[in-house]
Amino acid sequence: MTAHVPLHALDTLWFQVAGTLCNIACTHCFISCAPANHSHEMLSLAEVEARLEEARALGVREYYFTGGEPFMNRDMLAILEATLRQGPATVLTNGMLLRPELCRRLRELFDASDYSLDIRVSLDGFDAASHDAIRGAGVWDKVMTGLRNLAAVGLNPVITVTTAAEGVETEAGRTRFLDIIRGFGFTKPRLKVLSLFRIGAEESRTRAYDEWERIARESLTDDEAETLQCSSCRMVTSKGVYVCPILIEEPEARMGETLAETLRPFPLKYGACHTCWVDGVTCRT
Ligand code: SF4
Ligand code: SF4
Repeated sequence: MTAHVPLHALDTLWFQVAGTLCNIACTHCFISCAPANHSHEMLSLAEVEARLEEARALGVREYYFTGGEPFMNRDMLAILEATLRQGPATVLTNGMLLRPELCRRLRELFDASDYSLDIRVSLDGFDAASHDAIRGAGVWDKVMTGLRNLAAVGLNPVITVTTAAEGVETEAGRTRFLDIIRGFGFTKPRLKVLSLFRIGAEESRTRAYDEWERIARESLTDDEAETLQCSSCRMVTSKGVYVCPILIEEPEARMGETLAETLRPFPLKYGACHTCWVDGVTCRT
């Protein structure tokens, strides 16, 4: 029998705000986002507002926006403005579209809200060669420009690095990344290291999950369930609400059309669940 994770409380709500559309196609992307991947479409302001209203009633505490590349969504600033009226927001971006005008608008939203606005920018190497080997030629230079633009308006991003970046799991590797961040003038560098999931493009880059890589338990204690982000999150996409930000290409991980329909336990039967379990992964900052 497969262990089920209960939903203890819906604290964190994710939005697949750019669908599976991205301006690049990283070789490790666990949902294979790309310029022409329309598996999930972008969310409109109205679609986000409908779930925000539901989330308010359910006591959701924080909101995350991802894709794909969120800033490809033309409604993104309006979506953030609406979200920041009711809670803290975090945007996960590859940093390529952080132009001066966008950064200025983000700073305005940051200043106008009682809640925090965090921008999370991905890096996958210490330099152009290592980063672009995963993210594509010329991406590093654009991200560096984006980080300079964020620094110019005084927004301190969280830098997210996956374990595809060689050495990031060592102290020396972390220090090297922190030094890169400090180089932009951010005196309080923030770094988040994320595990890789062997699904989507990453499955081709390295390998798929083996059969044994499953949570070999029939049940979880409350404390164990709490270590899994799916005990306190859901993910809104254009095709409905999914259990978590990772399994949006698993048809059975779609739990309903509305948040109210997803307030129930979920079976942890996927290889990706094993990574969450073993590595203690949370996609939250
Ligand atoms: S990892 Fe992020 S930036 Fe790269 S293709 Fe996927 S969504 Fe786009
Ligand atoms: S992939 Fe991780 S977050 Fe998603 S259902 Fe499995 S354990 Fe939960």
